[in-house]
Amino acid sequence: MHDIIIIGAGIAGLTAAIYGRRAGLTAALLERNIFGGQMVESAEVENYPGVPVTTGPELAAAACEQADKLGAQIIYDTCTALEREADCWKIIGTSAEYRAKAVIIANGAVHRRLGCEGEERLAGRGVSYCATCDGAFFRGRDVAVVGGGNTALEDALFLANMCNKVYLIHRRDQFRGDRVLVDAVRQRENIELVMDAQVTHITGEQKVGGVEVTFRSGETRAIDLSAVFIAIGVQPDTEVFASHVSRDAGGYIIADENGETGVEGLYAAGDCRAKRLRQIVTAAADGANAAFSASNYINQQQ
Ligand code: NAP
Repeated sequence: MHDIIIIGAGIAGLTAAIYGRRAGLTAALLERNIFGGQMVESAEVENYPGVPVTTGPELAAAACEQADKLGAQIIYDTCTALEREADCWKIIGTSAEYRAKAVIIANGAVHRRLGCEGEERLAGRGVSYCATCDGAFFRGRDVAVVGGGNTALEDALFLANMCNKVYLIHRRDQFRGDRVLVDAVRQRENIELVMDAQVTHITGEQKVGGVEVTFRSGETRAIDLSAVFIAIGVQPDTEVFASHVSRDAGGYIIADENGETGVEGLYAAGDCRAKRLRQIVTAAADGANAAFSASNYINQQQ
């Protein structure tokens, strides 16, 4: 029996583990993929206080090492169900079952799909959701980034350093991302803005050969290129917890700023929680708050 099991080893989960261990509790992190979560896809992190510039993988590795040194355990497994038992939660994984007095759900969010023809078929063959991971495969080539938020803007800038040309395709005529990034994108000669345009088809047989876009006006355009980086945001992956917690219309778990879901011994932290600002720093804060709440709960039970 663990004191706390944290589902997801992104920055929210790692922070919860650090705070849980420092509160004298046993803490295990259940991670289905790689520790660090979405953060590992950030080529540059410039807004984490006290760390003027770092990379996502570096920050993730440092947080993981910190949690590890404090004695948090990382278990590589996928949570498939949660069940309430008399005095604890049972977490059913694909490899084993685990029990904990408190559970912190910190499983983040997954990449949103465009849903156009060719996207699924050519995934991994030029369709990518991570410019930092896959950009180098398309050095010197023409590529596209789809989206208008901070991720799309950062991806376009990152790719412009190595690719011949970057088409930034956005469905509106205004960007959602930060002004500083929009200005930087506009200054790059090898970034072409394709605004008010939806990607309707990703073409190619064995690999991506181009995209077809449809403008708001109804006009269409075909663009030859080698890769499409889709950066249209994320969505939570909370179906497995749906019978236990309340969720908003987007599927985000409703929990207060202390991570309290209103369900005994069950907390939510990070990008899976309904809130306005999803950043590394807000996920870390969520993790600390949820671990503090879980620790108070466990102490009250004793
Ligand atoms: P986001 O801010 O939600 O932006 C998603 C973008 O994709 C929007 O421009 C949206 O268009 C577009 N989009 C959504 N669905 C679409 C669809 N079906 N077809 C075409 N376009 C679609 O997502 P994000 O950029 O991944 O950022 C997620 C969060 O992380 C944000 O809070 C962001 O600020 C944060 N973040 C911060 C930094 C940083 O501070 N350096 C870096 C990366 C991410 P509309 O604008 O028309 O809705």
